[in-house]
Amino acid sequence: MSSVKERFLKYVQVETTSCEANGTCPSTPGQKELGRLLVSDLQELGITDARMDEHGYVYASIPAKGVEPRPAIGLIAHMDTSDAVPGATCPQIIPSYDGGTIRLRNGVEISGFDFLPGLKGQELIVTSGDSVLGADDKAGVAEIVTLCERLLAPDAPDHGKICIGFTPDEEIGRGADLFDIKNFGADFAYTVDGGALGELEYECFNAASCKVTVKGVNIHPGSAKDQMINASLVAMEFARILPPWERPEHTEGYEGFYHLTGMSGNEESAELRYILRDHNRSKLEEKKETMLAARDWLNRRYGEGTVTVDLKDSYRNMKEIVEQHPEILARAEKAFRENGVEPLIQPIRGGTDGAQLSFRGLPCPNLSTGGYNFHGRKELIPVPAMEKMVEVLISLVC
Ligand SMILES: [Zn+2]
Repeated sequence: MSSVKERFLKYVQVETTSCEANGTCPSTPGQKELGRLLVSDLQELGITDARMDEHGYVYASIPAKGVEPRPAIGLIAHMDTSDAVPGATCPQIIPSYDGGTIRLRNGVEISGFDFLPGLKGQELIVTSGDSVLGADDKAGVAEIVTLCERLLAPDAPDHGKICIGFTPDEEIGRGADLFDIKNFGADFAYTVDGGALGELEYECFNAASCKVTVKGVNIHPGSAKDQMINASLVAMEFARILPPWERPEHTEGYEGFYHLTGMSGNEESAELRYILRDHNRSKLEEKKETMLAARDWLNRRYGEGTVTVDLKDSYRNMKEIVEQHPEILARAEKAFRENGVEPLIQPIRGGTDGAQLSFRGLPCPNLSTGGYNFHGRKELIPVPAMEKMVEVLISLVC
């Protein structure tokens, strides 16, 4: 019998960094390698329908046990890792953390995080300092596979049908794109993709992107008086109109933002690229209105057609959908509490595959994995947190 820790250590050693520049699905071949490994692990446990489709999505199910009718519950985790730092990891184990500074193999130090003192005495898995750990989201994957093992044991408690899904390319926002909800067969689902033990998330941003294009009038600078309209300067004026306090670096919690993600330009033409985010949909609409008002103001000043604004909606806050099914959240809260974990409900300052799945008909809040410091070299996960999450998942489905 393999433990959640052994599984996790095995999965993090497969390089599965996703790559936004690649148009294929999965975006990188390593994800299918992990997918094949997961199918074989699930089959070894006795799950005969474990399979991977041509896009790298892994599906499996465990039939209901017992006579009482129960809902079919889906559990979803993603196989890829963030490309912020290299992916293939040589994890390091700290058998009993002393509560002090953690020195990684390459000299990087982990200290100063609020959560560290609370982990004293626990067994931790950390990186070598050269890569992400991949607890986001291979901890979720390992916890779900270990849950399957527990449910297939002869003495397992009764449960409804369990539907398992492992997705590629979540980190590049495509994890839900080709997810086969119909054949998945769940009434509702949970992604196991959050951070610290107890996190329960069902609110994410409403999101839009915006391209601002400026057309200038270029003329030799020596004879430009009263003639030139410098597109780059108009673009800078546009940027100045937006409230500086509503930027990512000045916002937290439920505060939305305008985020300039790129700019280019000369006298003739200029372009600004923004993403707009807000948990509140009408406030996101207000941000879009502000972009249009800035365009109109500059056009009145420099002439119609100088500034154009191209707005596109990206994703929506899944709260709209999940709120209609309070029993799904209550079930998760109960599962945490049954295992002595106080649920920590907080808004996600980003998006999640669960949002897209929720709007496509599969309500899907997000549960913790137990990990910390995702997307960086200082990522780590306590082994007891992973073990606890397996117990929480059992309470959730039984
Ligand atoms: Zn993740």
